Order: sequence, then C-alpha cells, then structure tokens
Amino acid sequence: MRPHDILMPTAAGLCCRLGGFHIDPVRPVDRAVITHGHSDHARAGHGTVLATQPTLDMMRLRYGDNFAGSTQAVAYRETIRLGDTTVTFHPAGHVLGSAQVAVEAGGIRIVASGDYKDAPDPTCTPFEIVSCDVFITEATFGLPVFRHPDAAGEVRKLLDSVALFPERAHLVGAYSLGKAQRVIALIRQAGYDAPIYLHGAMEKITHYYQASGIALGELRPVKGVKKAELAGTITLAPPSATSDLWTRRFPDPLTAFASGWMRVRARARQRGVELPLVISDHADWDGLTATIATTGAGEVWVTHGQEDALVHWCRTKGLAARPLDLVGYGDEDEDVGMPTGESEAAEA
Ligand SMILES: [Zn+2]
Repeated sequence: MRPHDILMPTAAGLCCRLGGFHIDPVRPVDRAVITHGHSDHARAGHGTVLATQPTLDMMRLRYGDNFAGSTQAVAYRETIRLGDTTVTFHPAGHVLGSAQVAVEAGGIRIVASGDYKDAPDPTCTPFEIVSCDVFITEATFGLPVFRHPDAAGEVRKLLDSVALFPERAHLVGAYSLGKAQRVIALIRQAGYDAPIYLHGAMEKITHYYQASGIALGELRPVKGVKKAELAGTITLAPPSATSDLWTRRFPDPLTAFASGWMRVRARARQRGVELPLVISDHADWDGLTATIATTGAGEVWVTHGQEDALVHWCRTKGLAARPLDLVGYGDEDEDVGMPTGESEAAEA
C-alpha cells in the first residue's frame, strides 16, 4: 500500500476511499471528518460529521441544529475504526477543539494537521507532535520572513497604548472564532481586569468559550453603551467593522488589528491600522519547519498558503514533498488572506 491509496486530493477535498470519508470537505459528502470550526474547513450540509465536541458545537452555533444529517463527537487520542482505516484525533493548538487527524492503514500513518500552531494559547489544548510517515501541513505563513513574535509582548503594546491614551477608545480587530478569545485571555494574563466590550458578531462564540471554562473576565456588549463611556476602554470586533461607519460610536477610536499578516507593514497601512499586533493562530516559518522535522515524516504534502518555499525547504532536507493543490481553503479562514469579513459584520 502507498500513501496515495489512503488519502487522495479530490475536488471535494482530501478523500479516504478505504475509510469512506473526506477530511474538511469543501462540498457536501456522506461522511466528513472535520479538523476545526473555521468556515473554510467546517461547512454545513454533510451526511455525517465526525469532529471534536467543541467543533460540532461551533458548527451548530454558526449553521443551526440541522447543519448535518448526524454527528459523532470524537475525543482527543480516541481511535475509531472507519472502513479499513483507523482514525485518531490529536490537538492542533489552533482554536478551541481543533484537531489533527491521523489516518492509519496497512502500517502507514498519515497525519492531516488542518490548521495548527505550536505557540502557547491559553484558550485551547496545546499542539501535539504525532509521529507519522506522511505529514500534511498548511503553509499560511510558509515563508522565512514570517516569524511571529511573542503574543504576550504584542498585547503589552495594546495595554501600553490604552494607558497612554485614556481618552481614546481602542478597537481591536480580531476574527471571531479563536483569535478574539485568545486576545482577551492574553489581555487578562497581562493583568488588565476592566470590562472588555464585544461587537455583536463576537458574542455567541465568545460566550461558548466562557461556558467551556475559559476564563475571559467581565465582557459586555458594546451595543447601547454611551459614546463617552467608551473612552479608555477596549472593544473586540471583526476586522471589517473596525474600518467602517460602525467606529463612529466610539470617542477618537484607535484601531488595532491582531493578525499574523500585521508582520507586513503595507497590509497594516492599507487597512488604516494604527496599532498592528502580530498575533497569529498559525505556525510561523520556524514552527512549520520544526514541526515537519519532529514528526519524522519522510514525505510531506503541503496544502493552502505559501506552498513553494516549504516544499523547497523539505526537498533540501531530503524529504519527499509536494503541493496538494486543494482549492477552497484559506479564503474564509480567520487568519488567511485578510478577508473583508462582511458576513461577520452583518451578524452584528
Ligand atoms: Zn483555521
């Protein structure tokens, strides 16, 4: 048996014929194994969905109760039999409930890591290295220029700015699943204990994180709060909201944006971001290459992002590597390509 007999890229996504399932399919399929709740990976309309309980819950929050014909919750490190394969979920460290999916058949183990990061995150289970024969990696920040600084240091910049400009409202653009909650948790770890305000589009998912036991301190909806009361406060909002008319309800708003893309100054300027915060939920170049090396995989398949540099790096290390050319990922992901996020803003 070869790896290709186990997992194959198809128009619907990565397909495992032996097991009768797809991983993160972009089209409706009979049986979907889903790595995490971001909308480019977790779509509605499948027959059966297998995922961690948080991922299933987030899909339910976003798409409603009938998002799939049926569901099966799988715990981390639980192994299930699907057709002629076994499938095990391992933490991916990307957002709450995110999982890498290890598929085994004929003595070969392939790990589809979905989106992942090896940096610490107080809001989710830490990334775990899974030794394997073939490692399937994302490459969102797959260029040597991307080296994410310590996220706590970036949040310190935000708090220093709040202290320096007590008359201004600080608006922090952050994607509503994962990034927003991580930023809030980091703000709390830094010792800031005043209420933090939320844009309406953030509320459901953030309350879900709180209900899951993640301490985020006192959170208030920003809707209905008088303008003057927002001086010196912090509000989390979808990135699109921080550049539109919505900001008029704030006194002298100062716009921050928490994203790995803030490493690129031109991107921050383009969006009128006054305070770029380089905080990403994806592995940076060092994280990607260290992870690939540590898995011990002899073969690497690279999905969405900057595939070329990572494929080249693998080959220089003597690893077989190729881009998978899957389509449909990244365009809606919470940290990829900086989408306008209009749908998120519209929820508010
Ligand atoms: Zn993601």
